[in-house]
Amino acid sequence: MNQAIDALRDLLSQPQRIIITMHRDPDADALGSSLGWALFLRRQGHQVTVISPTDYPNNLRWLPGIETVMVYEESGASRKICQQHIEQATLICCLDFSALSRLKDLGKVVQEATATKLLVDHHLEPEQFADLMVWDTNAAATAQLIYQIIKALDPNLFQNEQDIPLAECLYAGIMTDTGSFRHASTTPEVHLAVADMMHTGFELNRVHRLIFDSSPLSRLQLLGHALSKIHVLPEYRTSYMTLTAADLELYSSSVGDTDGIVNYGLQVEDVVMSALFIERKDEVKISFRSAGDFSVRDLAHAYFNGGGHKNASGGRTTLSLAETVQSFLAVLPEYQAQLQSVR
Ligand code: 5GP
Ligand code: MN
Repeated sequence: MNQAIDALRDLLSQPQRIIITMHRDPDADALGSSLGWALFLRRQGHQVTVISPTDYPNNLRWLPGIETVMVYEESGASRKICQQHIEQATLICCLDFSALSRLKDLGKVVQEATATKLLVDHHLEPEQFADLMVWDTNAAATAQLIYQIIKALDPNLFQNEQDIPLAECLYAGIMTDTGSFRHASTTPEVHLAVADMMHTGFELNRVHRLIFDSSPLSRLQLLGHALSKIHVLPEYRTSYMTLTAADLELYSSSVGDTDGIVNYGLQVEDVVMSALFIERKDEVKISFRSAGDFSVRDLAHAYFNGGGHKNASGGRTTLSLAETVQSFLAVLPEYQAQLQSVR
């Protein structure tokens, strides 16, 4: 990590044309770390373009600098401009993902670009596509890694209100990826980083409210609908929910509305794994969550073209919704002993 930061310091001593990109369907960590990094780099005099592979959730539309984000898949014109920026870039920063497939179509453009590539991430098993890597699977969030990088590059940050926007971006990522500071990833360093950022005087409560307490009513009703048909499988200590395309339409679901629903499945007593199957346009998107030592990352990787973290992972299939659920039920016996032994 220190080596990568030294190399970055060298690189950033000259003005660069920089692209920052993050995984598709970006969450608060992906977007917060990207926008925080962008704020820092722009202040240092670099030209920065932030590109999201896809649209992003409504509850992140307040993040400082969000209006500058270009969405690659928005239109042909947008694709062209993004491609030009990427071709002309001298540095491409890849935040909060470890495989180029997580960029959808944008992955190929980034792969073929000649710019130096920097990966900043905390997912397992990164692909080897970057020239510089700041990668730590123990980091609670990519925003925590960005915090460490920018503090190494400028130890005087976060001393006054000038850095409130930066603090808000990074706090959004850390708060959400730690499950509001309750996951095992919440180390003393996490709290120290937040304490440091609080010297700016930013309002924690406001960030929390904007992200968690600003849902359209229809989103809560969608959650209620999903919960009303939850399946609990006591023999596997597992629960799962499904949302059909019709459900999503009925509750006028938009990007990000299904985020977090899977977490409720873990609230059922004695359940240590929850899954949510969502019928999207050309695929079924799956989210997994687990408690304790059971790795949903391994399950998503082995059977559902996915990955992520031990306790939070995702995947996708091109099967029908019913077939996807069947294939999930079919692999459960293989994991039964592991699920039973979770403490
Ligand atoms: P979520 O369920 O919130 O979409 O994703 C949970 C975690 O799994 C996130 O860390 C996310 O990056 C990862 N993840 C979700 N979908 C995929 C996928 O299709 N492939 C991989 N490799 N990781 C995924
Ligand atoms: Mn993350």
